[in-house]
Amino acid sequence: MDFQQIFNAAPKVEASAPGRVNLLGEHTDYNDGFVLPTAIPQKTTVYLGLSPDDQHHFYSQELEEQIDVKTSDPVPESFASYIFGCIGVLEKQGITVPPLNVYVTSSVPMGSGLSSSAALEVAMLRGLRSLLQLDLDDVRIAQLGQEAERQYAGVQCGIMDQMASSLADTNHLLFLDTRTLDRELLPFPSGAEILVIDSGIPRTLAGSGYNQRREECEEAAKQLGVGALRDISDVEAIAHLPELLKRRSRHVITEDNRVLEARKGVSAERFGELMNDSHASLRDDYEVSIAGLDHLVEILQKTPGVFGARLTGAGFGGACVALTVAGKAKAIAQQVLEQYNRAEQIGRVLVP
Ligand code: ADP
Ligand code: MG
Repeated sequence: MDFQQIFNAAPKVEASAPGRVNLLGEHTDYNDGFVLPTAIPQKTTVYLGLSPDDQHHFYSQELEEQIDVKTSDPVPESFASYIFGCIGVLEKQGITVPPLNVYVTSSVPMGSGLSSSAALEVAMLRGLRSLLQLDLDDVRIAQLGQEAERQYAGVQCGIMDQMASSLADTNHLLFLDTRTLDRELLPFPSGAEILVIDSGIPRTLAGSGYNQRREECEEAAKQLGVGALRDISDVEAIAHLPELLKRRSRHVITEDNRVLEARKGVSAERFGELMNDSHASLRDDYEVSIAGLDHLVEILQKTPGVFGARLTGAGFGGACVALTVAGKAKAIAQQVLEQYNRAEQIGRVLVP
């Protein structure tokens, strides 16, 4: 079913935004730190038209679900929260948004850590920008998308996902300082390409684990007397913290340092080592990995042609990312999945 079939009219505008995969800098964005994501080829597209009545009508092709909501009513907790949130944050800026027909379709896998939520928000805000001829730059779009997710979908996310979806492309790494929003598009390590494999394990604990880690980081920053863990670059400074907070902050500090090293431009081999170190740190210090992800990462790391691998996204399930020899990712994926799928989980290739 397309827009025409659902709404019996033609759309007025179409807009898209990609998903993203984060190569280095995990759980650093809410610590004001540094991240290094790239856009993936999969994207979300929205089609917008004017609603014939006083309701918004939101349709998702993937969910085959339609939600109708009066513009003045609270939106039910659902995929519609992300779309309605984009409208809501604009209205809070004093922009009038008419009742809309919205049709969403996407090739970004949902809930695997490739940020289908940010792709939806950025696509929706781009669509609104073009429909209402709004003067919003790409950074503002990312910030409004983040606000929509925080205020309407109830996810206390950092700014990485929306910035990556709004500003990254598939040919570069996006270095981003999440405090200052200073950014730079960087080339991939020479002779390398990206492989993303979904572990097939749902991220059931991701929400609660994420919030708990945020609180631990805030507490560590408070005990250290700094605004955020990003302000610490030397692990010596955390020696006196209680054991748990020490481990949490050691992850954030070393992860920030890994991003800063990679930003300088390193070989694919060194970049791979940084990814391996990142996984070990997420597993041992940050404790957001689980046995299935460790298993998949281990298989990846042992496969010839892989420079390095780690879990990507918040953890507790979802996808793993690897840096492989250019041109080899597809063949490596088959080899890895043959081994991985012998165990109880069924993984699948997401990129390339
Ligand atoms: P991720 O962003 O890692 O994919 P999230 O849990 O943050 O995972 O966001 C996934 C949610 O975003 C989905 O449960 C759904 O509510 C919404 N969403 C994303 N893409 C679509 C889509 N194509 N159609 C409907 N809802 C979508
Ligand atoms: Mg998301």
